[in-house]
Amino acid sequence: MVEKLFISYNNVHKLCQEAAVQIKKFSPDLMIAIGGGGFIPARILRTFLKEPGAKNIPIQAIGLSLYEDLGTDSQVETAGLEVVRTQWLDFGTLAKNSGSLIGKTVLIVDEVDDTRTTLHYALSELEKDVREQAIALGRENEVTRFLIFVLHNKNKEKKAELPQKMIEEGRYVAARTVEDIWIAYPWEAIDIEEHTTNAVAQGNN
Ligand code: 5GP
Repeated sequence: MVEKLFISYNNVHKLCQEAAVQIKKFSPDLMIAIGGGGFIPARILRTFLKEPGAKNIPIQAIGLSLYEDLGTDSQVETAGLEVVRTQWLDFGTLAKNSGSLIGKTVLIVDEVDDTRTTLHYALSELEKDVREQAIALGRENEVTRFLIFVLHNKNKEKKAELPQKMIEEGRYVAARTVEDIWIAYPWEAIDIEEHTTNAVAQGNN
């Protein structure tokens, strides 16, 4: 078994291209990229989701970090780990530019689903925000649909769950499901030539 899975930029590009076929069926209106790993996949995916003559899908960034036990009020505990929001949506600006999330199809993008804690947190918090806004605006009858895209899902016991309906409806898209090992992404590489050579040797190019 390899110790680390090396993934090249080419491979990331191709995984996004491949996954776009499934994602396109849902015609997402907006992407929310979880930083920093979700940023590059989201940008690449946008290329493949673009329909001729249509506008590019807007990308919003959110930042989340996982901590084991910091014990302050600003954190929400999920399955033993605490998720800290380092950056969240600015709903005021969003409403002015892309409109609110209410009634939209929203694609959440991250690079890897490891324990699922981050994705669970992002999804449940975004759902909560949309629900509160819909109630405030009297728009509870509109359906907001969330999709998730990750490059890799690790095949392991998860610490948090995603809604069964989301999985059943194909709204959870992982380009690859891999064993539980560390994945080295190209944007973390110090020596990109060596990294790419390792990725090519593993067939991940
Ligand atoms: P979670 O456990 O919440 O699913 O993942 C938390 C975060 O840990 C991910 O968004 C990612 O940034 C990081 N992470 C987990 N496993 C890996 C991995 O194999 N490689 C890299 N580069 N990051 C990982």
